[in-house]
Amino acid sequence: MKEVSPDHLYQLFNRSKRNTENVIKAAPIGICITNPSGHFEMVNPAYCEFYGYREEEILGQHFTVVVPEAFRARLSALHDDFIQGNETHELRQEWDVLTKSGNVHTIIAEAARIEGEDGQSRKVTFIIDITQRKQLEVRLKQANERLDHLAHHDELTELFNRRAGLQRLDEEIKRCKRYGTTFSIAIYDLDDFKAINDTYGHCTGDTVLQQMTALVSKTLRDTDFHVRLGGEEFLIIMPGVNAEEAYQGMERVRKSVAQQTFSEHQLTVTLSSGIASYVEASGTRLLDRADKAMYQAKQTGRNRVVIASSSM
Ligand code: GH3
Ligand code: MG
Ligand code: MG
Repeated sequence: MKEVSPDHLYQLFNRSKRNTENVIKAAPIGICITNPSGHFEMVNPAYCEFYGYREEEILGQHFTVVVPEAFRARLSALHDDFIQGNETHELRQEWDVLTKSGNVHTIIAEAARIEGEDGQSRKVTFIIDITQRKQLEVRLKQANERLDHLAHHDELTELFNRRAGLQRLDEEIKRCKRYGTTFSIAIYDLDDFKAINDTYGHCTGDTVLQQMTALVSKTLRDTDFHVRLGGEEFLIIMPGVNAEEAYQGMERVRKSVAQQTFSEHQLTVTLSSGIASYVEASGTRLLDRADKAMYQAKQTGRNRVVIASSSM
């Protein structure tokens, strides 16, 4: 074998070192090397650009300068473990990091352990910015939650919508059939509401609907299910409540609405309500009976609550 002179070896080593340095400098992802105590020994331009530091500014600093306060102790401990540990490769992990201007970004970091010129371990960390993807994920999740909310709620009053109400009614009937329990429903409709719209405009009518339904919800029990069936007609499902208790509950609601004033015009409104209790009936039948009782409340002078009779 041909002998290699020390000079030639030195040249080879230097060339290899320069090549490695050039590759690291040109890399489009951030790369840093930290010493055993966690201080920056090398940072490439992509790393500096991402964090907003100049190279000379960040070299020598402890790496936790780019870590939010809350995670500093944990990441320091992980750094120590990695420097001392046996594994040469750290798995990809997602972290929140802090740029010089104080912005929080999300990165994926992956690390490798190398040996420094002094024979001690160094940690090389590669980072990829996933802030935009993360923000997109958050926005997508919020949009999905909003869509899900809209599918079950009424936009004006934020109450459950008709579809959610009828579904809940079905579920309640099934529960009662299974466990032999009972529940009641109340349908209520505002009295002479058209006159409010005609006199003060639709916008004021909307405000009255919002404020009135909020007041009713506050008066109900936590377990009651408040639904906007449509227009100014509403349904309340009251689990575990018999007709007499439902009547008392609706009387409380009726009185509190009648005593309150709504919108900037200090308007008063009243409601008429019909109550029906579960007796081995389908959801539509139950709604039908409550509707007939409400009609009777309207017929007999409004601003009253009527329990459906067995003939309804
Ligand atoms: P009754 O005592 O017989 O219930 O009389 P009413 O005037 O309340 O009943 P009617 O069914 O004749 O009119 C209901 C009115 O409710 C008609 C409509 O203008 C109004 N309304 C329905 N939905 C809305 C809404 O979302 N916003 C507003 N502002 N008004 C609504
Ligand atoms: Mg009405
Ligand atoms: Mg109506």
